[in-house]
Amino acid sequence: MSVAKEKFTQISPAEFFKKNPELVGFTNPARALYQTIRELVENSLDATDVHNILPVIKITIELKDEEKQIYRINVEDNGIGIPPQYVPYAFGQVLYSSKYVYRQTRGMYGLGVKAAVLYSQMHQDKPVEVVTSPLNSKRIYKFKIKIDITKNEPIILERSSISNVNNWHGTSVTIYIYGDWIRSKQKIYEYLKRTYIITPYAEIIFKDPEGNVVYYPRITTTIPKPPQEVKPHPHGVDLEMLKGMIAQQKTNMTIKEFLIEGFQSVGEVTAQKVLELANINPEKKIHDLTEQELVVLMNTLKKYEDFRPPTADSLSVIGEELIELGLKKIFNPEFVSAVTRKPKVYQGHPFIVEAGIAYGGSIPQAKEPIVLRYANKIPLVYDEKSDVVWKIVEEIDWKRYGIEGDQYQLVVMVHLCSTKVPYKTAGKEVIGDVEEIEKEIRNAIMEAARKLRLYIAEKRKEEEAKKKLITYLKYIPEVSRSLAVFEVANKEDVVKLNSIVNEIQTKLLELVSKRLELKDILEYAKQVKVESE
Ligand code: ADP
Ligand code: MG
Repeated sequence: MSVAKEKFTQISPAEFFKKNPELVGFTNPARALYQTIRELVENSLDATDVHNILPVIKITIELKDEEKQIYRINVEDNGIGIPPQYVPYAFGQVLYSSKYVYRQTRGMYGLGVKAAVLYSQMHQDKPVEVVTSPLNSKRIYKFKIKIDITKNEPIILERSSISNVNNWHGTSVTIYIYGDWIRSKQKIYEYLKRTYIITPYAEIIFKDPEGNVVYYPRITTTIPKPPQEVKPHPHGVDLEMLKGMIAQQKTNMTIKEFLIEGFQSVGEVTAQKVLELANINPEKKIHDLTEQELVVLMNTLKKYEDFRPPTADSLSVIGEELIELGLKKIFNPEFVSAVTRKPKVYQGHPFIVEAGIAYGGSIPQAKEPIVLRYANKIPLVYDEKSDVVWKIVEEIDWKRYGIEGDQYQLVVMVHLCSTKVPYKTAGKEVIGDVEEIEKEIRNAIMEAARKLRLYIAEKRKEEEAKKKLITYLKYIPEVSRSLAVFEVANKEDVVKLNSIVNEIQTKLLELVSKRLELKDILEYAKQVKVESE
């Protein structure tokens, strides 16, 4: 019997993602086109609003080779740009990022644009082109880059620079993708529209391969407060992280100093208490701690209940005002409401849930509510039904909130922001089930829905009242005559009687009509006509 020998090899992260592009959303040509747009737009937004710059983003898709279905995609922004020494790595090395920090950003894996470059290289031979100028830079830099897949390193094919005469800053990225516009068109349009709903402070111009141009104008100059970088919270710590943080410390400080310096929510008193619980001498130097001590320390940090909850400074919400503005602009509804909840925590990560509801008006009638999901300001467009948000919207008994019949004219928007969004996959489309988050999403939707219920109840009450008034209107002539009879001593004096009837009638009409609008009176007129026919 012969035994086959196993062959062991190691592959680079670049090769891994090239072999498994579906893990990052590149499942087929349609999805690839959509995903590329998305990664580029997200990077552009991260380079602008996070840094307090009002975004201007231009997106162009052109069909370059009809037979091979190669599309040229260009996205240009007015963001902070990229220092030239980092450009090759940012675009040519998988898992290289400026966003591995405790601060909410759209990107978080250091993967997005490289996934697009890898996919691009699999189907055609043009490199990615990057033109960029950092803020206040005197030069504009241009690069053509490919990824060396076996080494996970950038290959720089071209590098040049010109003088920045107009003080431009920003980045323009061009990638050639084997794509399918027809099958991705609807999703791409949906993605851009949903992006605009929550970024009405951005100006977005999109030119599609058919030559259509869509322009989303800026309708406000209010940018949500940008997120701040913060230190990690001790509840989110794990052993490797603790070791890594200690290894990075150049000075051999005491463990007590380290806890105060390295984490949020830890002061003198807390550090002392934690170390007592862990049975570690607070004066012990960090580089002298044993592995055993680190394990005990990690477990103590995780379990200690008296830390202040994580700060929400690292988060950036959209805010009730902007949510309402965006929903109004896109859906032209009869009613909107929005809610930004207070910060909460799961597994040591702070998070905030926001919800918006739009009702009636120009919202199309449908069998189901329109659900708009967002995570860290990214619209999630695919795989809607496997998301926790959908589950919650389905569970809610909308009749209790005043929505009648089996047709909805309802938009439910949910935004989750966190320093760590529990996506189900690296393609970032679906939020996984985390109990604390699910509860907050439900609370947020219900809070916004209660405002809708009040509105609908108020509206119904008004309608009832108007109906009553219209009924009164019908009886005014009769009532006026009866009242007049009491007033006039000599019932034979017809002239006097009529004038008093008129007087009373005018007064009553005035009283009633003050509380009605023209359309109600027209409605009354219609009823009278029907009755007399
Ligand atoms: P991630 O967005 O998860 O960090 P990417 O691969 O998409 O990963 O991007 C890598 C890095 O390249 C980013 O962290 C950022 O520093 C830089 N970058 C990419 N696009 C832009 C842009 N348009 N403007 C400024 N920086 C950018
Ligand atoms: Mg990115």
